[in-house]
Amino acid sequence: MRFTSHNPEAQFALHAVRQAALLARQVQDELAPPALLKADRSPVTVADYAVQAALSRALAQAFPADSLVAEETSAALQTPDSAPTLAQVTEYVSRLVPDATPPAVCAWIDRRQAEPGARFWTCDPIDGTKGFLRRGQYAVALALVVAGQVQLGVLGCPRLDDLTGSGAEGSGALLIAVRGQGAWVAALAEPGSLVPLSVSDCQEAQQARLVRSFAAEHTNVELVDRLARQLGTQAPPLRVDSQVKYALLAAGKAELMLRVLPVDQPFYHDKIWDVAAGALIVQEAGGCVTDLDGRELDFGAGPTLAHNRGILVSNKHLHPEARRAIEACQA
Ligand code: AMP
Ligand code: MG
Repeated sequence: MRFTSHNPEAQFALHAVRQAALLARQVQDELAPPALLKADRSPVTVADYAVQAALSRALAQAFPADSLVAEETSAALQTPDSAPTLAQVTEYVSRLVPDATPPAVCAWIDRRQAEPGARFWTCDPIDGTKGFLRRGQYAVALALVVAGQVQLGVLGCPRLDDLTGSGAEGSGALLIAVRGQGAWVAALAEPGSLVPLSVSDCQEAQQARLVRSFAAEHTNVELVDRLARQLGTQAPPLRVDSQVKYALLAAGKAELMLRVLPVDQPFYHDKIWDVAAGALIVQEAGGCVTDLDGRELDFGAGPTLAHNRGILVSNKHLHPEARRAIEACQA
């Protein structure tokens, strides 16, 4: 199906995410990024703040009545020690919004709300900050959620090069899905035409390529390995940061993704901004996304997937077999 972008939300999201992802790439190219640490000790960079500020401000202009549920707050940026970082963030935002000032940047970041209403956007400005820091994969993620369902998802993946078939190095990828209409990809650098995405038609678990988090602390690696053995997959699991995992599945470059909780965090629930855009892109490319118990993901339960346990993503054909393996391994 051709992408017909009469939908104003889709038009907005494609443009805003593309600009934001190109800005993130500039930060990565120009700064040896000194990361700040948030209260939970996770890293946050100039790019996380600059992208959230720019996307939040663009959203406020395009859809002033819509709310935003996003990862960052400006708290760590507002301490006296962080003034040089805030100045850098403001400099990057001003490349897209020339009149940006430090207080305005903090206000745009903090326009995000902790609790969603019935219709809201969710954004992870840099999904995979750890990947960004080691020059691995990361994504700018934006999704529109209405009544618990993702209606629109866009991923900007500056370091993902080979999805459009052009093979051009440094092209990056820009992916979009609209519920009920399909999923498409274009080069991020020069988005000409959008090419439809479709999952792999692999029907044999032995042939399946499995993707999991790069960060070993985000999943139970031993259990993923056990599930892979139970399924008989031959290839070692691919380790990829961020929702780029979903992009690879949607493009037919992998067949299975398992998110099983680490043993030391049995009650962790994924944040909605870490999943929403990627999940719709896989579904609209023909794949299947559920939790480990086969339940549909509920994006209307607050800022986390509080009603779900883990995540299983597949090219659809392999979903029943993966569910049987999960039961057999008591994952
Ligand atoms: P990953 O898919 O491992 O690249 O993780 C994507 C995002 O999820 C990052 O924003 C992480 O901060 C977050 N994340 C995933 N799993 C966990 C976890 N078990 N504990 C803390 N953060 C997590
Ligand atoms: Mg994230």
